[in-house]
Amino acid sequence: ARDVSKAKNGGKGKKTGGGVVAGGGSFQSMGLPPQLLRSLLLRGYTTPTPIQRLAVPSLMATPTRDLVGMARTGSGKTLAYMLPLLTRLGGKHSTTVGIKSVILCPSRELALQILRVGKELARGWKVPDAEPLRWALVVGGEGLEEQFALLAANPDVLIATPGRLLHLAVESNLDLSAVQYVVFDEADRLFEMGFASQLEELLARLPPGRQTALFSATLPKSLVDFARAGLAPNPKLVRLDADA
Ligand code: ADP
Ligand code: MG
Repeated sequence: ARDVSKAKNGGKGKKTGGGVVAGGGSFQSMGLPPQLLRSLLLRGYTTPTPIQRLAVPSLMATPTRDLVGMARTGSGKTLAYMLPLLTRLGGKHSTTVGIKSVILCPSRELALQILRVGKELARGWKVPDAEPLRWALVVGGEGLEEQFALLAANPDVLIATPGRLLHLAVESNLDLSAVQYVVFDEADRLFEMGFASQLEELLARLPPGRQTALFSATLPKSLVDFARAGLAPNPKLVRLDADA
């Protein structure tokens, strides 16, 4: 939580091309469900960081508008995409068939960390007569059979590394047509690690009309090109300076 102090004064640049993003000042004014607000407070998250202040309202305001978020390591990018994801899902398992959301990240370790953050936030959120969210982790170094089963169990949130997910997707002819929300986390590292062609193949399997959020600490040209090709036109760009 290195940057939390900065969150108090940062993020004032709420004017965007389309006007002012409503309610980006506090978690309370973002239109998040009360159960999620309570969960945030319980975990000690009282004030959004600048990237959260800018990205969360944008992702929630127009659920088809894509976003590219650039902010340095430690700036709170996980919540910036996890809060809109949990809000979309309503904190409960969806009984309609298919994977609803996918988070792609460069390592097993990071995937586990994302899973922990997401589950902790969702834990206190109980919806009457509904099953809790189903999470699936698909990463290298774990049993293939087990992961096939996870994918087949209609997960609401899939957290995956691209190599393993593509392998399983090809082997099982995985249907990703119900996916509504896709995150590329640590996108610069995904590229540095040589996942570009796998990412392109995965993109081709994802349906149009979804919302895609790409988060990164840096925006090299390769990534900008990837975003141009893989995201819907005119994504919202939230770019915080390296020292923001
Ligand atoms: P990034 O992905 O940008 O590197 P993380 O999402 O991993 O950053 O967050 C970095 C640290 O900041 C984590 O320990 C996280 O719990 C903490 N953190 C994130 N958002 C907040 C917040 N709004 N208030 C307090 N701590 C936060
Ligand atoms: Mg991160």
